Amino acid sequence: MINPGTPSVNKRRIRQLNGKKVNRGPVIYWMSRDQRVNDNWALLYSIELARELETSVVVAFALTDSFPGANLRHYSFMLKGLKEVEKALIKKNIPFRLLTGNPPSTISALVKETRAGAIVTDFDPLRIKNDWKKELVKIIDIPLYDVDTHNIVPCRVASGKQEYGAYTIRPKIKKLLSEFLDEFPKVSSFGNSSAKSDKTTGWEHENYAGTENAGRDRLKLTNWEAVKKKLPGVVRSDATEVEWLIPGENAAASMLNNFLSNKLSRYSEKRNDPNANVISHMSPYLHFGQISAQRIALEILKNFPKDPNTDAYLEELIVRRELSDNFCHFNPHYDSFEGFPQWAKETLNEHRKDEREYLYNKELFEAAETHDILWNAAQREMVKRGKMHGYMRMYWAKKILEWSASPEDALNIALYLNDKYELDGRDPNGYAGCAWSIGGVHDRAWAGRPVFGKIRYMNANGCKRKFNTGLYINNYSNFNKKPPVLPI
Ligand SMILES: Cc1cc2nc3c(=O)[nH]c(=O)nc-3n(C[C@H](O)[C@H](O)[C@H](O)COP(=O)(O)OP(=O)(O)OC[C@H]3O[C@@H](n4cnc5c(N)ncnc54)[C@H](O)[C@@H]3O)c2cc1C
Repeated sequence: MINPGTPSVNKRRIRQLNGKKVNRGPVIYWMSRDQRVNDNWALLYSIELARELETSVVVAFALTDSFPGANLRHYSFMLKGLKEVEKALIKKNIPFRLLTGNPPSTISALVKETRAGAIVTDFDPLRIKNDWKKELVKIIDIPLYDVDTHNIVPCRVASGKQEYGAYTIRPKIKKLLSEFLDEFPKVSSFGNSSAKSDKTTGWEHENYAGTENAGRDRLKLTNWEAVKKKLPGVVRSDATEVEWLIPGENAAASMLNNFLSNKLSRYSEKRNDPNANVISHMSPYLHFGQISAQRIALEILKNFPKDPNTDAYLEELIVRRELSDNFCHFNPHYDSFEGFPQWAKETLNEHRKDEREYLYNKELFEAAETHDILWNAAQREMVKRGKMHGYMRMYWAKKILEWSASPEDALNIALYLNDKYELDGRDPNGYAGCAWSIGGVHDRAWAGRPVFGKIRYMNANGCKRKFNTGLYINNYSNFNKKPPVLPI
């Protein structure tokens, strides 16, 4: 139990990835996708398991310097968030270990060093994370439990197959929401004093000698700046740090409060207007797991239960977001042409040789050097701010299809740019979003036209009908111009 009298973690969130039996020894929570202390079912389950086994918990984050596409922008946001995680864990008497290197190797080394009894980690549908887990189970002799703490309805419970679209996953999720949309127990201080003196847990003590706290021990904190400087992705990066969005659990909670107090009431009406900025900006926090989607949903439902804006927002936050996890979990080709539905592959193949009115390569797109000033503005918004407005992302990706030599090139370019510059990039939502725009995933066939075939088309007039495109273009008219201070 987490605390006497509190409910335990719903077992349907948890999968054991190997057939091993628990040993005596601490439970390692290998934190990966869900980088937070509060509202985290994987951490709660680690604590629950440790209490059952009368042992302690160690939280470890395995930092690799070669995560595909990760750069200064991403590492900076992530490491600042992890610094906050470390501090919050220490307050709860839970040690935190930052490991650097190949994650399966560093985690298995920690297992040996601490003589751990079990590992708990968080669910992630992406290939690289699953490869790490597969590699790890080959070299450990203790159980590896995978807990879905990212989705409200766990991805593997919501559906057993790739869904066709929002219309097929929505009823499945809605049926299960009451089972999974429950309040989180608080993570109380672990308070296992024997753990403190137990070297196998990985506690490292530093003395407060000469300070007012002399005589007391504290955990040695990670030198985050030193860690950051050593990452090659950081050194090489031309995607700069983002200043307007503060990383971490606390900042995520403030951003959510601001959204609820000042923006939600206009969400349905204005969410497609990039100048209005009524969107929640939750995606970077959700991507790094610095906030739980379940917490967002609970807060909205508690404060605005009968508001139509609540329904519109939860459709995006729950149905669309969890549909993306479903796509990446069940479709091994989520980032290639092969992953598109059959009808879309056929229609794109039929139009492969259509003449392109404009043709650009990756470099020209990246430099925002197309003939279309609206597209260029969207590209600059992403490069400068690290977050393109959601409505523009559709236009942006569809034009890459229209002006690339092939649909394969278009998808590769869109993913390359999305993953490099978007703070929320390298996420199932990005793979699903690009595959929707370019490859008809989760969409239906529309009237045929050159290049696109039956893939849904979008043009600048659609944008003009939704918002003041002139103002948007002016805001992002060149790379040297400071982006506007939007009402956050
Ligand atoms: C080409 C393309 C690329 C995209 N790339 C990404 C990406 O890399 N990372 C990412 O998180 N999202 C991506 N999206 C989805 C969407 O545009 C962003 O989630 C949204 O703009 C994030 O901003 P927000 O949190 O302020 O949105 P809000 O409108 O406030 O939405 C709240 C939350 O709902 C979810 N959501 C909203 N729209 C979608 C959607 N269309 N699909 C799935 N979930 C959604 C997100 O989790 C978002 O944080 C992409 C969409 C397209 C068309």
